[in-house]
Amino acid sequence: MGELIRPGDALTGFFVQEGRCFRMVASDQLQATHCYQPAAWKGIWKDRLGKSHYVEACAKHAPKVNTSSSP
Ligand SMILES: [Zn+2]
Repeated sequence: MGELIRPGDALTGFFVQEGRCFRMVASDQLQATHCYQPAAWKGIWKDRLGKSHYVEACAKHAPKVNTSSSP
């Protein structure tokens, strides 16, 4: 079963640009677009292949580094 993509959902792709959130999200037309939130977090983020990237992310998309207690 595939996952439904809804507007605003984070997608697997990403981009790196200074001062911008690195995440790609689904637009109202379900097209991949850049997250427009201002960057609130900077750090090393590993992609699904285990490659490290220095990225910036908004508060919503910042990787959770403290705990893994969420289901
Ligand atoms: Zn974001």
